Amino acid sequence: MRVCVVGTGYVGLTTGASLAFLGHEVTCLDIDEAKVELLSAGRSPIYEPFLDDLLAEAAPNLRFTSHYDEAISAADVVFVAVQTPQRRDGGSDLRFLRSAAESIGEHLGDGFTVVVNKSTVPIGSGNWVDLILRESFERAHGRRVDGEFSVASNPEFLREGSAIHDTLYPDRIVIGSDNERGLEVLNRLYRPILDQSFTAPAFAPRPAETGAVPLVSTDLASAELIKYAANAFLALKISYVNEIGQLAERVGADILEVARGAGLDARIGRQFLQPGVGWGGSCFAKDTAALISTAAEYNQDMPIVRAARKVNQRQRDAVVERLQAELRILKGRKVGLLGLAFKPQTDDLRDAPAIDIARQLVERGARVKLHDPVAAERFRRQQPDLAEFLCESVEEVFDDSDAVVLVTEWNHYRELDWAKLFGLTRSPYLLDGRHALDRKRLTALGYRYLTLAG
Ligand code: NAD
Repeated sequence: MRVCVVGTGYVGLTTGASLAFLGHEVTCLDIDEAKVELLSAGRSPIYEPFLDDLLAEAAPNLRFTSHYDEAISAADVVFVAVQTPQRRDGGSDLRFLRSAAESIGEHLGDGFTVVVNKSTVPIGSGNWVDLILRESFERAHGRRVDGEFSVASNPEFLREGSAIHDTLYPDRIVIGSDNERGLEVLNRLYRPILDQSFTAPAFAPRPAETGAVPLVSTDLASAELIKYAANAFLALKISYVNEIGQLAERVGADILEVARGAGLDARIGRQFLQPGVGWGGSCFAKDTAALISTAAEYNQDMPIVRAARKVNQRQRDAVVERLQAELRILKGRKVGLLGLAFKPQTDDLRDAPAIDIARQLVERGARVKLHDPVAAERFRRQQPDLAEFLCESVEEVFDDSDAVVLVTEWNHYRELDWAKLFGLTRSPYLLDGRHALDRKRLTALGYRYLTLAG
């Protein structure tokens, strides 16, 4: 089928490349011309494991453009995967979505097209996009569009760092549509994934247990709410284990044992029950805020989601408080932060805990030393006022430091020469913000090993 993906960020690029890999004819469209140029030259603008391999394999079916007139009119399916960031008041900023929908509407062709919201959008956005498409088409063509397109919702659940795996072997595919023909088109589009009938690429082998992928075929509003319900649940699971972690510290319990013991209950599950500095990234903060904001529009409070957000912020504050409790004075201290990306295996810095922690430390007069094996260059561009604190090497971070905090658990950090690094520090404080390191070994080497929960 002919597919256009509007927005070639983490979601759009992975979706476009995966669909092209499966044999669809895909055009990825972005208004960022520099991105399009880079992609057309065969280079990825983001770091995502195996994305380069996927782009190379999908290349015969994949092209990139910044021109709507070339991309929309011939497409059977148009995915919208533009960003939907958080507004100051917590709601979603839908300017990018509106602009994309206007451009799509203007260029809709004569054939039947399904316009699919893959961006995470507030409940009711499907109807809103439908209206924009119609108005925009009418403005451009001087006539009404009738039955030539349908709007569907197909929320995305991929995780950065394993985006390709999650796209090819998803837990489920959710499609919301009030139009039978639109549903049928998307069913056909996703058939190879639903049936798992494609040949798996060497760099993303099919897990042994993968069977047919469940399709949740529902109405627009339900599909839109599924995405928020899922993300908010994951966010609150993390906040919950962190809240229990705070109690564990007070009562002298081991939070890792507590999380394991509770998580082995199949009704609870071990995933997202890892204590630490909490969640970050482009989704959880904005999606929980948007859920609260949508509920408020309908006069509903969301106390559980609100609490999850509060606990998450408290974990970041707790890093600084913990350091202050150990070092007493933060002014003039040198504190190293290992890891800037919001999680390992991505260069995404959106709402990264490390940025918040670094800013709090700087405000309190500490000198920060920052390191990330992948995201440093992106950090330099996006946080220019903190860029001077970037270190070239881990050795530089430890050199003469008063404390070092592991913020992002890159494997690279697990494998460091901790004995050698100990010799470079001024004092032994090591705060493992992710429970990722070997407490016994580090303590034996002389570190004062700390976590947020003990
Ligand atoms: P992103 O910021 O990485 O990419 C968005 C892209 O859209 C950018 O390249 C931008 O230039 C482009 N764009 C903006 N306006 C445009 C327009 N009018 N026409 C064409 N291109 C335009 O965003 P992302 O992380 O890929 O997220 C996209 C959506 O998917 C968001 O709603 C997000 O909440 C959701 N989502 C993201 C993830 C994730 O892990 N990143 C996971 C699930 C869902």
